[in-house]
Amino acid sequence: MDSVPCFTGFLRGELLDTFSQWGEKPFRTQQIWSWIHVKLATEIDEMTDISKEFRQRLKENFRFCRPTIRTRQHSQDHTVKWLLELADGLCVESVFIPEEDRGTLCVSSQVGCSLSCPFCHTGTQRLARNLTAAEIVGQVILARSELSDQGLRVTNIVLMGMGEPLFNYDAVVRAVRIMLDPNGLAIGTRKITLSTAGVVPKLVDVGRDLGVNLAISLHAVRDDIRDRLVPLNKRYNLAALKQAVLHYPLKGGRRITWEYVLLDGINDSDEDAHGLVRFLKGIPSKVNLIPFNPWPGTPFTPSPMEKIIHFQEIVGGSGLVTVIRDRRGEDIAAACGQLVGRTLMAL
Ligand code: SAH
Repeated sequence: MDSVPCFTGFLRGELLDTFSQWGEKPFRTQQIWSWIHVKLATEIDEMTDISKEFRQRLKENFRFCRPTIRTRQHSQDHTVKWLLELADGLCVESVFIPEEDRGTLCVSSQVGCSLSCPFCHTGTQRLARNLTAAEIVGQVILARSELSDQGLRVTNIVLMGMGEPLFNYDAVVRAVRIMLDPNGLAIGTRKITLSTAGVVPKLVDVGRDLGVNLAISLHAVRDDIRDRLVPLNKRYNLAALKQAVLHYPLKGGRRITWEYVLLDGINDSDEDAHGLVRFLKGIPSKVNLIPFNPWPGTPFTPSPMEKIIHFQEIVGGSGLVTVIRDRRGEDIAAACGQLVGRTLMAL
């Protein structure tokens, strides 16, 4: 791999330090930052307001790198899924979900995943490696530039693609800080959601370091069931998870989002619904009920819609905000838990 690092992995302050060591004026950093994150340049020579000498020095020290698009699939509901190839040939997927008032990009944080949740297709893969911050930010930059021609805009980010973001903590924190920069990608903390299976010791750190929205993959409120569905529960059980969440700093009326995938006959009984209500007592919460998205060879079946609605009535009836998540992009296997980065599968 080329040893010159990618622009997209740097914080603005770091570029500022480097350029001032080179004797450049501070406003140059903003010009270059804007080429990277706003004008979405792909070549250093596009930076026409930067002198030739400075550009030469930039070329010796940095480069633009984007993942290569292997395939691009458009769903009937206008969801877009990209299979992206990284510099070393491994692949990840990103998904864009347009809605009336916003556009959400679901980004991956790892190639594969180490969690092995048995209902998740990504979970059937081993972890190949963590993504770098540049590769995480690269997904956003690529999607923004791809979509801008169609008048579509990425306004929201969910770290809900392949991988467990809290097992790639440093790169994820760096990438989120880069996305937050108000003079760059400018995606606010309210518009970024990090989804985790519940890496308890890291929850305190996320609250302190980032203050983004938190989504937690709960899926069961009994340890014996959750041990099976989310094996990480054997390390950090429900009691530990609840303790950590009670201490999560929730700013200005925000809530924790709880993801609960409904699996027929496994976690969708009335008793489970009442247990969920009891578990969430005292936590400002929003419940996201996710219809299970089947994939080839899965041992699980989706709960019938009537059962999902009944489950929602019980949970919602207790006063909890409860939504049934749309199955977006199902026809192109872009929905939750269907991302596999097919090239890796072929290895
Ligand atoms: N590792 C992180 C983020 C990736 S998974 C986490 O566990 O939260 C994103 C969400 O999709 C999680 O809530 C996950 O449990 C859910 N999911 C995984 N497979 C699914 C499937 N087949 N159908 C529906 N949701 C699924």
